[in-house]
Amino acid sequence: MVDPFGRHVSYLRVSVTDRCDFRCTYCMAENMTFLPKKDLLTLEELNRLCSAFIAKGVRKLRLTGGEPLVRKNIMFLIRELGRHLETGALDELTLTTNGSQLARHAEELYDCGVRRINVSLDTLDPEKFRAITRWGDFSKVMEGIEAAQKAGLKIKLNAVALKDFNEHEIPDMLRFAHERDMELTLIETMPLGETGEDRTEQYLPLSKVRSDLERQFTLTDIAKRTGGPARYVSIAETGGTLGFITPLTHNFCESCNRVRLTCTGTLYMCLGQEDAADLRAPLRASEDDALLFQAIDEAITRKPKGHDFIIDRDHRRPAVSRHMSVTGG
Ligand code: SAM
Ligand code: SF4
Repeated sequence: MVDPFGRHVSYLRVSVTDRCDFRCTYCMAENMTFLPKKDLLTLEELNRLCSAFIAKGVRKLRLTGGEPLVRKNIMFLIRELGRHLETGALDELTLTTNGSQLARHAEELYDCGVRRINVSLDTLDPEKFRAITRWGDFSKVMEGIEAAQKAGLKIKLNAVALKDFNEHEIPDMLRFAHERDMELTLIETMPLGETGEDRTEQYLPLSKVRSDLERQFTLTDIAKRTGGPARYVSIAETGGTLGFITPLTHNFCESCNRVRLTCTGTLYMCLGQEDAADLRAPLRASEDDALLFQAIDEAITRKPKGHDFIIDRDHRRPAVSRHMSVTGG
């Protein structure tokens, strides 16, 4: 799949549910209205859709959400998708999780062929953890991380950088991650969906985080690229890697290799744009995949050049009205 700007689309992110057992303040409002269950694709349908993308050249697949591990029977889908690793059609099957359910799924994930996962963790303080996630239990996430490492999964921690919240904790989080052989990536807040919080109050530019870190650590840019908005540095003092995801800058759109599928079969060609393609109708219209392939091809011709994110005091409304939990991180 090649879009009109010559970019090869080889990475599919799938939000398998918009539901979650946390309510992170930058991600969701406390009282969320979720999609009616009847609008969801079944796991069999999600498997068919993902397999169609793999047939069209997707080499990397990430399951996300909402919280992917709260979807009932999700391991069925993960096992089915794992078969594409065995045939060599897929290079990587991975997921982004809040870690709350990881302890009971870790071994099975490894058994299905998952080798690396991203775990979101914004603080090491259990009370602050409860405040930012509204509902989360820090000890469960720690158990999950331990179980995942024991099962052989490599972990990358993702932390959203939040002004006056974890700003001064980042050096500790860096040491925590690197001492345990995990990578750490910091993310800038993105204006996606109403959360009941003022985003201009939460926004912390990573350029500031980086210059603060440079007072304590030696950061060296490294060439590692994932086709996404992350830039990486190595940290001499810890021997580990730190990533910076700055979605509000445009410096990554030129190399964007991904599209995003929701649990209702809507394909978003860009996280920061409203334009989307419905794949549920062609999926359900016939048992063979011809219509589906046609709809995917048509969607790829509409992949936009870049996003339109803006957070500033004149633009108080979110740039994109859907929540991150709909399209996935
Ligand atoms: N529930 C899973 C989790 O938290 O890892 C997967 C879905 S969550 C939407 C994926 C990632 O998006 C998380 O790392 C989360 O911190 C991040 N995220 C959510 N809302 C965001 C926002 N408005 N700006 C930046 N990152 C956000
Ligand atoms: Fe749930 Fe992840 Fe959003 Fe937090 S960031 S509310 S864990 S989907």
